Amino acid sequence: MVGTVGVGGDNPVRIQSMTTSDTQDVAATVKQSIALAEVGCEIVRVTAPNVAAAQCLAEIRRGFTAAGFGHVPLVADIHFLPSAAMEAVEHVEKIRVNPGNYADKKKFTVREYSDAEYETELQRLHDAFSPLVRRCRELGRAMRIGTNHGSLSDRIMNRYGDSPLGMVESALEFLRIAEAHDYRQIVLSMKASNPKVMIQAYRMLVERMAQENMHYPLHLGVTEAGDGEDGRIKSAIGIGSLLLDGLGDTIRVSLTEDSVYEIPVARAIADKAMSLWGGAIPSGAEHDALDPYHFSRRAAAAVELSATAKTGPEQPPRVIVRGTLDAARSAAAVNGAVKDTPVEGVLLTLRTTDDVAALGLELDRGTWPAAMVALEIGPALTPATIAPLLAKPGVRVMPVVPATAGGALALQPWIELVRRHGQTLCVDTAAGAIAELAPALRELGASRLIVTLSDFRAETARAANAHALGAYRALADALRAAELAAPIWIRNTNANAVRGDNSFLSKLIEASFLTGALLCDGLGDVVSIETEADFGRATKLTYNVLQGAGARISKTEFVACPSCGRTLFDLQTTTQRIRAQTGHLKGVKLAIMGCIVNGPGEMADADFGYVGGAPGKINLYVGKSCVQYNIPQAEADARLIALIKEHGKWLEPTATAAAAP
Ligand code: SF4
Repeated sequence: MVGTVGVGGDNPVRIQSMTTSDTQDVAATVKQSIALAEVGCEIVRVTAPNVAAAQCLAEIRRGFTAAGFGHVPLVADIHFLPSAAMEAVEHVEKIRVNPGNYADKKKFTVREYSDAEYETELQRLHDAFSPLVRRCRELGRAMRIGTNHGSLSDRIMNRYGDSPLGMVESALEFLRIAEAHDYRQIVLSMKASNPKVMIQAYRMLVERMAQENMHYPLHLGVTEAGDGEDGRIKSAIGIGSLLLDGLGDTIRVSLTEDSVYEIPVARAIADKAMSLWGGAIPSGAEHDALDPYHFSRRAAAAVELSATAKTGPEQPPRVIVRGTLDAARSAAAVNGAVKDTPVEGVLLTLRTTDDVAALGLELDRGTWPAAMVALEIGPALTPATIAPLLAKPGVRVMPVVPATAGGALALQPWIELVRRHGQTLCVDTAAGAIAELAPALRELGASRLIVTLSDFRAETARAANAHALGAYRALADALRAAELAAPIWIRNTNANAVRGDNSFLSKLIEASFLTGALLCDGLGDVVSIETEADFGRATKLTYNVLQGAGARISKTEFVACPSCGRTLFDLQTTTQRIRAQTGHLKGVKLAIMGCIVNGPGEMADADFGYVGGAPGKINLYVGKSCVQYNIPQAEADARLIALIKEHGKWLEPTATAAAAP
């Protein structure tokens, strides 16, 4: 219980966020808390960077309650200072501590610890943390043990490294102390800016807790996700993957925007996940071959999609976008894609022989010189009627053919067709049919075959609460069992989506759930987002999801904190300004952080960092090393660009704007 709000158990997924005002500006903080609660934030966090700020929480709590929000709990966010925590616990319903820096005078250095020294450290920790635990228990306060990937203690770094395991151990050290005092009102988090790292860390935490018969609720979040479409995608990938694993009890979407904008995103993510609750868990637990704790990419065969793009373990996931025969005539939609976001396949539906003739003309004109044409074929068309399309010289045409168990015979003419013309076949099928189809598919060969699943519900005996994510995992596992290395095409179709509205946010979240989660588990070689009809938006969204999952980098990666009461400059305008100047630097990772409280590790593996050092002063980082201290903010952009140039990572903006061939 966080005040009167239950987290975990049978409670719904709780939505939370954080104020960004200076905590000592009580009126502003109360105002922001009210604004958050009014848009549906169920738990409000406020930073308490020092004892003076922690004292202000009393007045903030009073003001918030007086405004009619006594039922909305407040959380004090603590880094470093037990004294601030001991003050804050008197006033608010929950305390968040960061095990990486609570009571640790962290110097961000690596040093060796002998076993005896490690034990001494743990004892010191026990002594420093116990008073807060005891007071929380006395007052009925809740606590979050909030581990951040970027701010592990020197002790943990030394023993476990900068890893998901280190994050888990870091939390367990604190959890054991709390349990020693018989205190259990605890929520845990394992945040990281890299969704893969956070997904693995949460899974590992649950596994470790289960071993020790602990079942604490989880607070999910991706730190420093950034803003706009990218921030929403990263959050939806990390949080959504875990919620669809059945893990997670409260969530915070961190965006470098006003915090009220986080709430609708969090709400939509939670609602989609919760819409799958309640159905029976399918009997006979299915175990697949995935290692949930370590990333490795499924080794798929090399299939040539076009003259310049193929699939394979060394290749990035390829992009197919749905077109229409009308839109197809404006070839600019495909061929105008900028160099870093090429459309490698166009998906079309053919229903009549007129469609076949129209497409034949387009292919003769060379409408899509750089893309494969994937064809969904209506029931009126046969291998013979579309054969002329596959026979055209210099074009790649891939029939997409549904196949169910018992359908091996019907598949045979299609296999013969693509083999005759040296083309590729896409089989649209589910796990249950693979074993039976396997002999025919093996004969065709994995390098001429792509497997997809456009409607996971088409397979019989799906539980009502099933999701396409599980169906794709099962498909990958069935392919592995059948020794078929055919690439997997992840199709985000309406049929594969959880119910929701038709908004762009809903489509973005769906795509992040399915594609992002699969890619973070190493599955998927081709991706299409077919829920978005606009060709350009669908292309951009696909690339953004690939970037969010760390699977294919097409632009600068920004790691930006959401800001809070510690922030030393305007994060939103600064992020936008820096993005405007550096957004074309494909593959360069830039961190923009409001303060250095969590340490340089918080910037994850950024190449360069722009970090608030003091009011009006910026520190610049190269990797995790601070190379320029306290430079005036007015000079910081230019100095950052100079630094990027100095390290050979700068490109003039015009150099990347060229159109695709
Ligand atoms: S890095 Fe940003 S969000 Fe984190 S404590 Fe500093 S200012 Fe607040």
